[in-house]
Amino acid sequence: MPAILFDLDGVLYEGDKAIAGAAEAASWFIENSIPHLFLTNTTSKSRLALVEKLAAFNIPAGVDNFLTPPVAAIQWLHTQQIKDIAVFVPATTREEFAGFNLFDNENDRVDAVIVGDLGTQWDFQIMNTVFRLLINNPQATLIALGMTRYWRAENGLQLDVGPMIKAFEYASDRKALVTGKPALAFYRSAVSLLGAEKNIVMIGDDIRGDIEAAQNAGMTAILVRSGKFSETDLELGIKPDTVLDSVADLPAWWQQNFGHI
Ligand SMILES: [Mg+2]
Repeated sequence: MPAILFDLDGVLYEGDKAIAGAAEAASWFIENSIPHLFLTNTTSKSRLALVEKLAAFNIPAGVDNFLTPPVAAIQWLHTQQIKDIAVFVPATTREEFAGFNLFDNENDRVDAVIVGDLGTQWDFQIMNTVFRLLINNPQATLIALGMTRYWRAENGLQLDVGPMIKAFEYASDRKALVTGKPALAFYRSAVSLLGAEKNIVMIGDDIRGDIEAAQNAGMTAILVRSGKFSETDLELGIKPDTVLDSVADLPAWWQQNFGHI
C-alpha cells in the first residue's frame, strides 16, 4: 500500500485557521489505515503540541506520526554519541532534548550547536552567542533544524531558520548539518520510518522544500495551491507530479491513482 507524507502548515492549516476540508481529507487516510507521517519543519512546537493542534482541527494524530527536525537531530546525536549540546529553539521544543546535557553560555564546551526557528525571539545577543559558541568549539557540529527561507505568517511572509543558519555558516566558516526539509537525509528518515519498499507520496505547499526535495528522494510530489503557493512557483523548472487546489482534493486523487480503498 502506498504511503502519504503530509506537510502541515499551508496544507492542513494556515496559522491557526484550518484549511477547508483538511480534517476530512486527513481523517480519510487515518480511518483507512493508510500509512502516513506528518512531516514538518516547525520547531516552534513539540510533537505533543502538534498532536494537540491537529486534535483542535479534528485530525486524530499520535506523537509517533510526526517526523520533525528535532526527532531527526536527536537520532543523529545518538549515532554520534554526543551528549553535550547547546540548543537555540523555542521553549516548547526544548523538552524534546531533555535527555541531553544542555549548555547555553558562550564559553561552555559543547559538541553540537542546534539552531531552530526562534522567530521574533531572535536578537543580536542571541545570534552572537550562537556565533561565539561555534568559534569557541571548533569541533562542534552546527545542526540546522530545517533550512526553510521563509513562511507565511498571519501578517505576511516571515523569515524562517534558513537565513539565520546562512549567517552562522558564513561567520564561523563551516557547513551546517540540516535535519529538516529540504535535506535528503530528512526524507530518508521518513522512508526508513514508513518502509523502503513503499511508494511514498508527499503533499506540500513549498515548491522547493516539499516538491523538489521529495522528488529528489524518489517520491511522488503533489503541490497544493494553498499556504505559501504562488503561481510563479510553477515557472522555476520544478515539475510537481500533480497540482491540487487543496488537500481536500487528495482522497479523490488517491482513489483515482491507487484504486478504491
Ligand atoms: Mg508548508
